[in-house]
Amino acid sequence: MAEEIIESDDFVRNAYIIINEMLDLSNHTTEDTTVLVDEILHSIFFLGTITNSAYTPKKILDVKFAEIKALYPKPFECYSSQLPRRSPFSCVLDMIVRLTGQENEKGIQTTLQRLIDDLRKGAKSDQKCLFSSAICISQAGQSSVKHYGVSMSTSTRDAREIMVAVSCCHEWDEYVAGAVMTYFPNKKKNKSKDRKTEIDGTIRLPENVKCRAFSLLDGKVKPPCRSCANLFSLKTSTIEKWPYGNCAESESLSNLFKNEAQVKNRVELQTPMSWTAEYKEGAKKTLLTFLKNSLKKVNFNQDMIVYTPTISGEKVNVHI
Ligand SMILES: [Zn+2]
Repeated sequence: MAEEIIESDDFVRNAYIIINEMLDLSNHTTEDTTVLVDEILHSIFFLGTITNSAYTPKKILDVKFAEIKALYPKPFECYSSQLPRRSPFSCVLDMIVRLTGQENEKGIQTTLQRLIDDLRKGAKSDQKCLFSSAICISQAGQSSVKHYGVSMSTSTRDAREIMVAVSCCHEWDEYVAGAVMTYFPNKKKNKSKDRKTEIDGTIRLPENVKCRAFSLLDGKVKPPCRSCANLFSLKTSTIEKWPYGNCAESESLSNLFKNEAQVKNRVELQTPMSWTAEYKEGAKKTLLTFLKNSLKKVNFNQDMIVYTPTISGEKVNVHI
């Protein structure tokens, strides 16, 4: 696949490979997965436009531009005016989970690793570009349903911060969002308006909930980092600390809570007194102001409307 591309830039190259892979997977299943293709097109085009104005859909898709635009028009209309809820690789994860089967953990991991190997093989730089470096599996008890998540698939600090902010406000379960909002964007615990009280939405997981994370670069076990230990009271011995909200644990736990109400009901706030409706509202306001300013920095001067992918009843096949 990569040989057809003359473009030397990793963003454009990886974007093309990932989109092609999603179209290929969507073509080879009887399931209607067009909503995921629509969503990833928008998410990638958005990241392209805020990263470098030269990364246009035309540049990314090259000779396939017209065909893909005709089949999925909405991402092309909205990528420069609306925000994605999650970073692109989360759509790849969803697609692979649907096609491989929710319980086939090894199969999901291997398929994602294979794609990432392809992306890294021909890359010009070592920088992670449009793919995630970790996957996390959360479940309540050993024989219960597995819920997956991947780390942020962004390659610049601005893009990562924008995606963490949008995911907090519009995508993640309220407990995950609350925990992340405690430390994000300020790294230290955010303070309430009177500047005295520390607001704290961090959580304690029910005893039987386990998170296991693996590197998608080498398949090795990844213990939770210090930030995730702070957010979700996970035990760890590592000193590694990734930016708040960046890791695969957030998406994976969010999927667990969204899908299993009886597990979510047993989640406890670390300090319930400091996470009242008023404090929560204040934290969200701070975050929205931060998001607005971050978007301005990358020349995105639109209202903060979130994109809704097209749900198609009919399957669309693209010739790839
Ligand atoms: Zn972490």
